[in-house]
Formats: sequence, structure tokens, C-alpha cells
Amino acid sequence: MMSHSLKAIVIGSGVAGLASAIRLAIQGMEVIVFEKNDYPGGKLSHFELQGYHFDAGPSLFTEPANIEELFSLAEENIEDYFEYTPKEIACKYFFDDSIKITAYTDAEKFAAELADKTGEKEQNVKTYLQQSAVLYNNIGSVFLNHSLHKKSSLHKANLGKAIKTIKWKYLFNSLHHVNTTSFSNAHTVQLFNRYATYNGSNPYKAPGMLSLIPHLEYNEGVFYPRGGMISIINALYKLALKKGVRFEFNTPVQRIIHTEGKVCGVVVNNKNIKADIVVSNMDIYFTQLYLLNNTSRAKKILKQERSSSAVVFYWGINKTFPELDLHNIFFSKEYKVEFEHLFKYKKIFDDPTIYINVTSKCEPGVQAPHGKENWFVMVNAPANVGQDWEVYKRQYRVNIINRLNRLLKTDIEPLIEVEQILDPVLIEERTSSYMGSLYGTSSNSRMAAFLRYPNFSKQIKGLYFAGGSVHPGGGIPLCLKSAKIMSELVADDIKKWKH
Ligand SMILES: Cc1cc2nc3c(=O)[nH]c(=O)nc-3n(C[C@H](O)[C@H](O)[C@H](O)COP(=O)(O)OP(=O)(O)OC[C@H]3O[C@@H](n4cnc5c(N)ncnc54)[C@H](O)[C@@H]3O)c2cc1C
Repeated sequence: MMSHSLKAIVIGSGVAGLASAIRLAIQGMEVIVFEKNDYPGGKLSHFELQGYHFDAGPSLFTEPANIEELFSLAEENIEDYFEYTPKEIACKYFFDDSIKITAYTDAEKFAAELADKTGEKEQNVKTYLQQSAVLYNNIGSVFLNHSLHKKSSLHKANLGKAIKTIKWKYLFNSLHHVNTTSFSNAHTVQLFNRYATYNGSNPYKAPGMLSLIPHLEYNEGVFYPRGGMISIINALYKLALKKGVRFEFNTPVQRIIHTEGKVCGVVVNNKNIKADIVVSNMDIYFTQLYLLNNTSRAKKILKQERSSSAVVFYWGINKTFPELDLHNIFFSKEYKVEFEHLFKYKKIFDDPTIYINVTSKCEPGVQAPHGKENWFVMVNAPANVGQDWEVYKRQYRVNIINRLNRLLKTDIEPLIEVEQILDPVLIEERTSSYMGSLYGTSSNSRMAAFLRYPNFSKQIKGLYFAGGSVHPGGGIPLCLKSAKIMSELVADDIKKWKH
């Protein structure tokens, strides 16, 4: 549908902001994106240090269909913008007792590997992954692709199929409980518990429904975008420009203006800029607090627990490690205690699970100088409530290095040629994500999925929301889906307004 006379403003150029701008431009609107930073991408950004390339934020790429769809809607050839390849190995897992598991993206091979390394019955793994596919296809696809807050949107979804598939245990039991009843081996349980961290949640609290997540890796696949994750942003930015979207960088939006229940535009540089449609890609808490000056609504959002944050060490390593792959996880010995520290005590844990991403495994000599590796070393961290991050970072660094020395049988410290560190305070400063949370709110309650903020304002016509802090949630795939849901709501509303 074409909406030539309409003008849209998008606040923020995170992955959902870019996808929103593209979708509204394809609908025929004149679109301007205001971005406070001097670069697009928000949390998905990139930097280079002495020949080492680092993706600053997200590192795992699944569900490329969300991106393919944007190019097909735009009638552009994706290959002209973006190249990605499937990975044979989703992740390498290292346990404290020296057990190593290679998680192949081929479900059969992965089941055989788990049987070999842990004694887990192959059939248990296959059944779990089949069930994961059913949950994803019948329930996930309904709730993740539609607005839960508009009847017109839910009418388009196959609710009957979703209701038939929902079982008590996925709603009322934790992911950990579902996993302990599905597997006999503690290592397998821990490995599948880990999927709660996909959206910054606690597997001992988050509902069993999150067992739909492994479907993405083992049935659909893990992909590597050539040039690293930043190539997603480069491709979407180029596509947005091609579709006529205008970008104003270094331009924070100060306020959203509205009158008589209808959006009128935004204030930037103390000037009013008119628009018919405004989409905020800024964290919904800050959107309500600062852009709409609505303290009570902002407070209400905080009734839901924030997702976890992270501390990331970007290390240029003067050596290669054949035992590592693109994605690697060194598990904590006491996983449950780690999550208690993250969510209950809001403190660091001295035996954290360590994630290492090494893009030079896929592009050696490009992502890092020859014979060297670019390590993105991440530990989950509590959301920022004023902890002393300088002290925490020093403690994390010592604990990480000690454990990696032991498990990789080496001395890491002298191999670190360059270093930069990201912490929750910096995450908040750079992308206005309240408390430095990576995924907005967590899914640490049964109803979390239904309590996420809608993709539209119920009070102000013409105001919409897209991004990790609103429905359907954080992470690149869900952010892209939020832009899709938002743009469908806009299209429906425009039709209504015209009548
Ligand atoms: C360390 C880290 C690791 C992660 N790992 C993964 C992963 O492996 N896989 C995955 O899928 N996800 C991962 N995530 C989460 C993922 O990065 C986010 O869910 C996603 O990038 C959020 O995108 P968004 O569109 O919500 O916007 P954001 O990236 O939050 O961007 C919002 C944008 O709005 C701008 N903005 C804010 N306020 C204003 C204003 N007033 N005016 C103008 N502009 C404004 C900001 O500058 C920013 O550019 C990770 C995140 C981090 C930080």
C-alpha cells in the first residue's frame, strides 16, 4: 500500500529502527531517522584496533529470513548487499570437568555427540528438538509475529493451533524443570538451560516455553555474515538509503509532541519537526520517561524485571587456538548460583560462564592479523544498579584469565596485544538502554511474554514502538520482527483513518 503524503520519523537507528524505516519507506512514506550517535546500528556496532576487528555487541546470527524478507519487499537483490554462510558447528562447549561438546547444527550429529560425551540417550535429544520445532512453529510463530495487544492482528494468527499445542508444563514450569525432565545427564541439562540467556533470562525462573529456542540453532541453523555482524547494519543502512530514507546523525530527539491524543512530531535541536507517524526505537522506559514525560507509565514498565547485562573484554590475541570455533562457551560449575548472583543479589559471581566469539575463525587474516585471533570475551552481568564496575571488571578479568589458562592449558595474559572493555554503564550511555540491559525486560516470569510493552501507543494515535524493549523482545531476530509487527499495525491504522 502506498502512503505518499505521509511523513514518518523514526527515533534511533538500532537494527529495529533501520528495519522500521525501510518498511515505512516501502509503504511509500517520507522517512527521517534521528540518531543520537554518529553511526547507525545501536548495540550492533563495530570497531577496529591495530588490525583486529570487533563486533561490539551481538555476535550470534540466526533466522536470516527476517532480513531476506526486507530485501524481497524492497525488490532488491540481497546478494548485492549481504552475504552469509551456514555454520556446521553452532557452538563448542567446555565444562569444568574437561568434558568438551561440539554442538553440530545437524540435529542427528549433535545427538550422537551428546550420547558419546555425556551418555545422554540420542533419542532424548532428538525428541526434545522435534518438540522445540513444534513449539516454535505452532506457538512461537503466532506470538512472535503478531501484536498481542490488537485483536485485528491476532485474528491473522493461527491461535487455534497455538492453543492446541500449549501444554501446562511449558507455561507453569521453569525451563530448567522441563530440561531436567527431558534429559538424564546434568551437562545436557546445563547446555539446554543456557538458551534462557538468549533473551537475558534465568533458566531457573523463565518458563519452559523457552525450550522453543534451540529449534533455531539445530533445526534452522547458525549463520556467519561475511565481514562480521556489522555487515547486517551496513546492508540495512544501504537499503534504507536506497529506499530514500534520510538520516540525521548526532541528533538526539528531545521530546515526542502530541495533541488531543494524536502524535504531531518530535523536538530536535529545540525545533519542532512535524510528522504523521512517529516510531520510537529508544528503550521504552526512557521513551516514556524523557520523550513523553510520563513518569507513572515509565514506573509501570519497571514492574517487570530487567534482563541481564554483560561485561565484554575485546582482546587481540597473538596466537591461534585450534580447539576454539566461532562460538565457544566455558560453563560455570555452579550455574544456578551464577543466576542467583545475576538476578537476586545483582552481584558478580567469581565462577562466571564465559562466552568467546572469534570471527577470525571464519575469516582468518581479515578479522585479525595472520596468525592471531580477535576474541570477544563476554560474561553475563547483573543490570546496573550502581555497582562498582571498576572493581567488578578487575575481578571478572582475573577470574576469566585463570579459568581459561586452566582449561586451554596456556598463559593468556601475555598473549593479549590489545584490549577494550564494555560494561553495563557504557551500554546504557551508548544506546540509552536502561540499566544496560541487553534485551529490555527479562522473561523471568510466566506472563513475561504477554507483559512486554505493545508496539503502539494506546493513548496517542500515530505513535509506535519497535526494538528490543517492546514486544516480541530483544535479540536481532525479535527486533526485526518488532519492526514488522509495527509496520503492519501502521498499515492497518492508515486504512482505518482513511475511512
Ligand atoms: C554485548 C551484547 C551482546 C549481545 N549479543 C546478542 C547476540 O549474540 N544475538 C542477538 O540476537 N542479540 C544480542 N544482543 C542484543 C541485541 O544487540 C539487541 O537486542 C539489539 O541490537 C537491540 O536493537 P534495537 O533495535 O532495540 O536498538 P538499540 O541497538 O538499542 O539501538 C537504539 C538506538 O536508538 C538510539 N537512541 C536512543 N535514544 C535516542 C534519542 N532520544 N534520539 C535519537 N536516537 C536515540 C541509540 O543511540 C541507538 O542507536 C547483544 C547485546 C549486547 C550489548
